[in-house]
Amino acid sequence: MDVKPDRIRFDDCLWKSSDAKMKGKELQKFTKNVMWCKNTGVLLTPAILCKDIEMFPDCVSWVREQTQEGLIYPDLHGFDHGPYASRSQLEIEEHLSRAQEWFKANLKVPAVRWVTPHGANSPAMQAAASKYDLVIETTEPPVVDQKALDTRLRETGDLSLMRGRVVMNHYWERGLRLYRIARIIEYQGVHEAIEATRVELNVKDHNICWNKWPQ
Ligand SMILES: [Zn+2]
Repeated sequence: MDVKPDRIRFDDCLWKSSDAKMKGKELQKFTKNVMWCKNTGVLLTPAILCKDIEMFPDCVSWVREQTQEGLIYPDLHGFDHGPYASRSQLEIEEHLSRAQEWFKANLKVPAVRWVTPHGANSPAMQAAASKYDLVIETTEPPVVDQKALDTRLRETGDLSLMRGRVVMNHYWERGLRLYRIARIIEYQGVHEAIEATRVELNVKDHNICWNKWPQ
């Protein structure tokens, strides 16, 4: 039986990247990452920052279309990336109310999960979330940081580490780790992924991708 994570979480959509090379390529980067995940058969859940993504209307319409196709499902990351744990319940409710309005107007679906910035959590956040039909997800298990998962997979090659997990990565990452994990899931093995990607990548990129992995 295939060993797959439950979900691949894609945080900070679309946090403005500090990488100057990214500028103007937001949709391209977004679609590329999502395409890799599509091959895994695992649902990708981009965690949306309403205030940030609305500066990129082409990305908003793309998320809406992919959601309608059932290929992804958008989660709420926050109306902004602020310190929700130190905000009052009233303030949080205002944010969640605006976010749900924004989701329905722009993505045509309500948010069902609130994947909080920095894994924030507080009684006020919990109370506000339930008022807006949102379930909070922090960075606690079953969520696993992809860097940590990556290291363990490299050391053990044991795919069962992914079972039942939510793999977390970020929009602004260069994408190599996501590419690698997507291929490991797709080909159901580290060795199999290394072999299969020889034809997809040139020699230099292949060496960078699998540097220090058991060949
Ligand atoms: Zn974040």
